[in-house]
Amino acid sequence: MNNSKKFFISTAIPYVNAKPHLGFALELVQADVLARYHRAKGFDVFFVSGTDENALKNVLAAKKQNMGVKDFVDKNAQTFFDLKKVLNLSWDDFIRTTEKRHFDGATKFWLACKKDDIYKKSYRGLYCVGCEEFKTPKELVAGKFCEEHPNQPLEIVEEENYFFKLSKYAKEIESRIQNGELIILPEGRKREVLSFIRGGLNDLSISRSKERAESWGVPVPGDDSQVQYVWFDALTNYINALGYFNSSKKFEEFWENNENIIHLIGKGVTRFHAVYWPAMLLSANLRLPKKVLIHGYITVDDKKISKSLGNTIDSSELVSKYGVDAVRYYLLKEIPSGEDGNFSVASLERVYNGELANGLGNFAARVLGLASKFEKFSAGGGSSSGGEVFSQVDREVSTKIESVKAIVDQKIHEFRLHEALGAINELIAFGDKYVNNHEVWKDTDSKKQEVLNLVVILDNVAALLKPFLPETAEKIQPCLVWLDEKNLEIKKGEVLFPRLV
Ligand SMILES: [Zn+2]
Repeated sequence: MNNSKKFFISTAIPYVNAKPHLGFALELVQADVLARYHRAKGFDVFFVSGTDENALKNVLAAKKQNMGVKDFVDKNAQTFFDLKKVLNLSWDDFIRTTEKRHFDGATKFWLACKKDDIYKKSYRGLYCVGCEEFKTPKELVAGKFCEEHPNQPLEIVEEENYFFKLSKYAKEIESRIQNGELIILPEGRKREVLSFIRGGLNDLSISRSKERAESWGVPVPGDDSQVQYVWFDALTNYINALGYFNSSKKFEEFWENNENIIHLIGKGVTRFHAVYWPAMLLSANLRLPKKVLIHGYITVDDKKISKSLGNTIDSSELVSKYGVDAVRYYLLKEIPSGEDGNFSVASLERVYNGELANGLGNFAARVLGLASKFEKFSAGGGSSSGGEVFSQVDREVSTKIESVKAIVDQKIHEFRLHEALGAINELIAFGDKYVNNHEVWKDTDSKKQEVLNLVVILDNVAALLKPFLPETAEKIQPCLVWLDEKNLEIKKGEVLFPRLV
């Protein structure tokens, strides 16, 4: 049995009615960093992504393209799955909500909720198909529009639905958020969630008539006339991926007995993950997540991404032009974790040349060039050797490395990934300055100690960057060959980021 500490991380599962856009690429890459970071720290990680395929909007989109719904979701889900390769992601599982394991799990979950928590009543309200959500009058912009979908008219829907007693769990969720049992980051989003709860929670409609759903969706157990409201089934994907239906060992290990359950989501779906899902879990008597990490939205050229503006960006095109790590770097460093950010090709190229070609790439080439003058180093161990502390590295250098490592750890835990990368860049800048201050390029033969210091800096830069830029780290690390705990051999490397002209 594997006794190491568990770490579960999920992204949200997007609807497949449109192609994946840059905002979801951001979410995937951020989650991937956390997964890779924890694996490197010895955690047993389960990282899951997937697609939400039971929504009515998939049915409508399929119709528009004259396709059967199943064919349509199969085709589109594939483009989401393909992002694994495009963005070099390390997810362990990819769950589609049309899979049997999801249907079985969602059905079991419905039945596991406390009997009194689900009741039937007739309801009339304004429904946004874009959000797949009823809107209350006070949520509407100008009394008419959904904030997220101003171009899509709301529908008046009247039918008999099942409701979930969300109101019953308001106090419990509020107190768990307040006492830190359920952590919501960034802090501003936590305040929003608390004020949403304090504003009073309405019970949640959790089914649709089968007719309106066009027979698409997870059936309500014991009632043929209804299917589950798409969010109610979708949220259970996180546990279904772990085998909730079969009460599998994986589910026990990564959910019920795990202190580290993390959901990473976009700000538009905050209340589903920070309020509804915890309430559902309380009703079904299951463990709650530990953290909900919330990223912002990306604008392109300072405009909202939309099909009609023609500014949707295909991440695979960016990757084929600039390389996967340049795209990952931009998303992770230039879009502050937890906040909104902007993308433009001009800024990507500026960052590429400034921070990757000149910064990291140049530093690595410089250090490996200097080090190639020596056949072999006798060192005290660096990061990838896992050896003892830098016994032969100058104090000034080892102190700097240790302090940057501590900052990176802290920033990752605070979900400030851009600041973690900023700290790694400081270590690179420190190394560059070290080269200049010691004029290591002059009379290098007599400066073996200085070069050793630089090699250890580079080795640590690579190890720290690995969760962020795995491909780049994997190009640097083989150049530093630890023959044993103390001896290091240098191999020539390739140009990491050829300058764009
Ligand atoms: Zn909407």
